[in-house]
Amino acid sequence: MTDFTSLGVKAIRDGVANGDFTALEVAQAFNAAVDAASALNAFIVPTPEQAIGAAMRVDAKRAGGESLGAMAGVPIGMKDLFATQGTQTTAASHILEGFTPEYESTVSQNLWNAGAGMLGKLNLDQFAMGSSNETSHFGNVSSPWRKEDTNAAMSPGGSSGGSSTAVAARIAPAATGTDTGGSIRQPAAFTGICGIKPTYGRCSRWGVVAFASSLDQAGPMARSVEDCAIMLGAMAGFDPKDATSLQMDVPDWESALSSDLKGKKVGIPKEYRMDGTDEAILASWEQGKAWLKDAGAEIVDISLPHTKYALPAYYIIAPAEASSNLARYDGVRYGLRDLPEGAGLQDMYAETRAAGFGDEVKRRILIGTYVLSAGFYDAYYTQAQKVRALVARDFEQAWAQCDLILAPTTPTASFPLGSLTDDPLTMYLNDVFAVPASLAGLPAMSVPAGLNPDGLPLGLQIVGKPFDEQTVLDAGLAIEQRAGFTHAPEKWW
Ligand code: GLN
Repeated sequence: MTDFTSLGVKAIRDGVANGDFTALEVAQAFNAAVDAASALNAFIVPTPEQAIGAAMRVDAKRAGGESLGAMAGVPIGMKDLFATQGTQTTAASHILEGFTPEYESTVSQNLWNAGAGMLGKLNLDQFAMGSSNETSHFGNVSSPWRKEDTNAAMSPGGSSGGSSTAVAARIAPAATGTDTGGSIRQPAAFTGICGIKPTYGRCSRWGVVAFASSLDQAGPMARSVEDCAIMLGAMAGFDPKDATSLQMDVPDWESALSSDLKGKKVGIPKEYRMDGTDEAILASWEQGKAWLKDAGAEIVDISLPHTKYALPAYYIIAPAEASSNLARYDGVRYGLRDLPEGAGLQDMYAETRAAGFGDEVKRRILIGTYVLSAGFYDAYYTQAQKVRALVARDFEQAWAQCDLILAPTTPTASFPLGSLTDDPLTMYLNDVFAVPASLAGLPAMSVPAGLNPDGLPLGLQIVGKPFDEQTVLDAGLAIEQRAGFTHAPEKWW
């Protein structure tokens, strides 16, 4: 009997299309795996009946000889930042508890149209703010990975920690993620899976709970590069409901996928060789260069001189936008309402927001309103926007010398849950290599490169030119083929 939970997107889709097994069998197997993995706390709300319903529709279509979509028969996990009609959508915050949208996000709708089904809503850092999945109102997500010889619960990364855990633990073949400053790539790196943040605007933000609108971008998380290419193709596309949506055709990334990098130049940014970066990570970067060279690429040294200013600029711009975006949670329109006896409108706002938002979210709102305040706007917000332009210009200049950039995804491997919660600055440093591509709106992917001496996964990051997801995926495939990363976490849950 096939162990369906070991299969990825392509294997499931093709197996269903060929009649090797039914979509229903697959959905049942993953529903059971989700059920058995509650110790990981990856899901806020499992939706087994939705996975079954979608599977039955696919099986009926196939029986009727109808054509099947790119994700037909594939049950996926949906980050609980995407509004799903009729299913609670919380952004992992108490303030949205009980909020059941009347509408479906464009990205999730695109996936259902392509034949995917929903296993459930995945846990995340509250409002996608965090790097360890410890800011969720619904509890920490535990990585399925453990350091060799210890039982300490490890971080799955954040904010898409439910997504990374579900895919790495084989309780979902793939999941959606969102990436504002690394939230697809960092959790993918921590859990030994692939994840791509496409060019800003490729995936519609409509119906995705907003964090920092000029940075937020959805993308797929899966166990292979090809699975990411397939799923991204289903998620992406112009959407008139999102004013920043790209009016461009979605290329067929899946069929064009090729690991032949002849004629491609890979830039190695010297500024990413930072103090405090793990030896094992530097070694995997060297290994990555050798793999891309072996795939036919030429390696060139480049400079991205404003790299070290990217993270501080991000931690001004993202909270500024968040403070504005989160103003809408007022106790009137969504979820929680805290209205003490005899209280007025202002009290209701204050009580609801005090009770509804978690500490990290409050920290971001405070920073955001501060940097946008009349007295400090120029000193912080305007300055950060100038830095953002310089970071983007660094990349534009680099494209004169190279076609893609190779760097580590993170400065360290995963860490034990709880070990950084009192140290927000070190926590923020997790995204030091991820944030520059976010500020510049560039496509960027993390692919597993190997294990560190503790037996924990490490990721390599590929950053591409605007709209050139193809080269990013191709280089990802070249690394994947050479890394031969077949490790899976040992099952303890
Ligand atoms: N860890 C970063 C933050 O907390 C990035 C989050 C994200 O990309 N959503 O802001």
